[in-house]
Amino acid sequence: MSERFGGSFTQQEPIPEAGIDAAMAVLRHGRLHRYNTAGEEIAETALLEEEFAAHVGAKYCLALASGGAAMACALRALQVRPGDPVLSNAFTLAPVPGAIASLGARPVFVEVTEDLTIDLGHLERQAVASGAKVLLLSHMRGHVGDMEAIMALCDRLGLQVVEDCAHTMGAKWKGVPSGRHGAIGCYSTQTYKHMNSGEGGLLVTDDAELAARAVLLSGSYMLYARHRAAPGPEVFEGLRLEVPNVSSRMDNLRAAILRPQIGMLDDRRARWRELYQAMERGLAGVAGVQLIPRPQVEDYVGSSFQFLLPGWEPARVAAFVAAAAARGVELKWFGAEEPQGFTSRYAHWRYAAPEPLPGTDRVLAGLIDMRLPLTFLPGDVDLIARILAEEVARAAEATELAPVAAPVAD
Ligand SMILES: *Cc1c(COP(=O)(O)O)cnc(C)c1O
Repeated sequence: MSERFGGSFTQQEPIPEAGIDAAMAVLRHGRLHRYNTAGEEIAETALLEEEFAAHVGAKYCLALASGGAAMACALRALQVRPGDPVLSNAFTLAPVPGAIASLGARPVFVEVTEDLTIDLGHLERQAVASGAKVLLLSHMRGHVGDMEAIMALCDRLGLQVVEDCAHTMGAKWKGVPSGRHGAIGCYSTQTYKHMNSGEGGLLVTDDAELAARAVLLSGSYMLYARHRAAPGPEVFEGLRLEVPNVSSRMDNLRAAILRPQIGMLDDRRARWRELYQAMERGLAGVAGVQLIPRPQVEDYVGSSFQFLLPGWEPARVAAFVAAAAARGVELKWFGAEEPQGFTSRYAHWRYAAPEPLPGTDRVLAGLIDMRLPLTFLPGDVDLIARILAEEVARAAEATELAPVAAPVAD
């Protein structure tokens, strides 16, 4: 009888008790708005910003309503204008081109390599061809490119870099926290990421003017002096009447839930790494499967796992995904014709009028993706890997392929 996995790929850990207690206190006093404080009280949101800035070693931090709002705020702070080209990797998720489009700017996509990071040769060509001044670099699924090479190239091309760290909160490259290489780093605290407040975002920078613009953009009215991880009032003086209010603040309830989670990031990274490496061991040497290399200097957060089925025809990949689903293993396939659940790819984002990217198409055609929530135990991962190895072998040998069952939705 074949084994079946019964766990949930979307079940995260509960909010820590300290976060629940802090949230209850906020609910009891009722001052949820970040600028609604009593007497000498310091808002949870302001404290969260101060503590997260310290955690990643940034001068300034701003809490926002979502990761997408953080990216859009970053682009506005950099004064991207309607119609401006903004570069981004083609392998990312919909909030990234969406943030660009929310300004009326134009996403210009860059090819992805087989190690799932941005193709530097193509980045240079796209930067020159488009005249873009900004790269919104998405560390998609936690794969961090060679940050020294990326930053050296961007400096040479005059590109400002905004890092989308939705999948790299808590990760490091050569000891430097993800989000600290570019002009601005953006994070998401949405439930499926690395700290969980349902929805939420954080933005960090060392640039005082960018920080002041971001605070004003978020909707600080004239209360920016209440921030603790923002520049002094003199920086706001020349900007406060120039920068529009694009309301996207975080509230004290979410901040209260998040504050105790900052100190858990390192431990979570270590536990995610264990799951990731167990999966890597389980799939190593399985014929037909190509694993993604992880550089030694990349201190990654393995909250999801990707592998390639290179050269597989779509019907064979679809058969594999369906067979895994029938045994309780939820996979996402980036090569599917139609977007499914959370998974879409660049060609689906019609508003961005994407040009075909043959290299990316080749990689995504065989790219399989799976969540590894911390509620999994290493034994769960071993079981999942056994199921995948068996189903890869079966699908690789199949001679009769049904005309494509859709991959499972989230
Ligand atoms: C989740 C995510 C974001 C931000 O998403 P929000 O839901 O707006 O917080 C940004 N980029 C990627 C790649 C993501 O997966």
